[in-house]
Amino acid sequence: MSRREVAQLIENMEGKILITSHKNPDGDAIGSALGWFNFLRKLKRDIKVILYDNVPYFYDFLPNVGKIVSSKRIDKQFDWAIILDVSEVSRTGFDSIPAKNSLVIDHHVTANPESTFAVVEPSMPSTCELSLEIMRLIGEDLIDYEVALPIYTGMVTDTGSFGYSSTTPQTLRNAAFLLEKGGINPYTVIKNLFERNRLTRIKLLQKVLETLDFALNGKIAHITLYQRFLEETGAGIEETEGFIGYPRSIEGVEVAVFFKEYEPGRWKVSLRSKGSVNVAAISSRFGGGGHVMAAGFEYSGAEGLEKLKEELFHAIGEA
Ligand code: 5GP
Ligand code: MN
Repeated sequence: MSRREVAQLIENMEGKILITSHKNPDGDAIGSALGWFNFLRKLKRDIKVILYDNVPYFYDFLPNVGKIVSSKRIDKQFDWAIILDVSEVSRTGFDSIPAKNSLVIDHHVTANPESTFAVVEPSMPSTCELSLEIMRLIGEDLIDYEVALPIYTGMVTDTGSFGYSSTTPQTLRNAAFLLEKGGINPYTVIKNLFERNRLTRIKLLQKVLETLDFALNGKIAHITLYQRFLEETGAGIEETEGFIGYPRSIEGVEVAVFFKEYEPGRWKVSLRSKGSVNVAAISSRFGGGGHVMAAGFEYSGAEGLEKLKEELFHAIGEA
């Protein structure tokens, strides 16, 4: 669908609206969900935000973040579901979405939406920025601080603070619009997100970095989180956000991999590339997806982590 059609669809949405996004929500998921929640409230819509997993504490400064419900099930029936930043509906974590109609707004290259309506633009650096451009078509006057702050936050996190090559001149113009229109202080976002680490997180980082290892003559750097690290430090798995930046930052490394044991024997694998390897394509081969330079998948094969490493590194070596 074109953006204009989506804008019209949203303007005409009636009844009970559900907003949801992916498991382990990141800044783009939370920012776009809250941005739309706060925006649609101004249009007097009946909306609920339900996410499968908890919202990490460092997003607690966002307006109305307390209205987000974290739940493993959705019991109520909805007329509409707005599904944000998910390449496929199963990424929400829910078996099914109980809504008569659904609209996916997303920017993944591997997107395969099974919704009634969809706008998927892989050239957009974030779902938040795509959402903002749709909101601007509906009404710029509705974009105040409450809408601007979560949207800006998701733009910051998905672009690496406007540093990744996905960032466009238009991204910076959109950011400027949010600063002006929403009256945001950029440091509010940076300070809340990156400058209030809990000691548990730093202790966890210490343990995870001890696992640092290399493959393919230093082209791959990988780190591992074992379940026991969480017990030993008291940290939550959401506190690993950003850890993958350390192996990625090493000179000569082209691909960074983070293996996270989220349940005993079950692994969440994150991949980051500096550009020479398309990690979305590699993740797809393992049942996941994502973007060219940031992707992931889940693995719970009986053969265990060592076998997974062997297969994954082989796949990266051939790419
Ligand atoms: P992260 O490593 O931060 O969890 O995710 C990086 C990117 O890869 C995100 O855009 C995310 O949507 C995508 N991704 C991560 N895990 C999965 C997965 O299991 N399946 C799919 N389809 N995409 C994933
Ligand atoms: Mn995103």
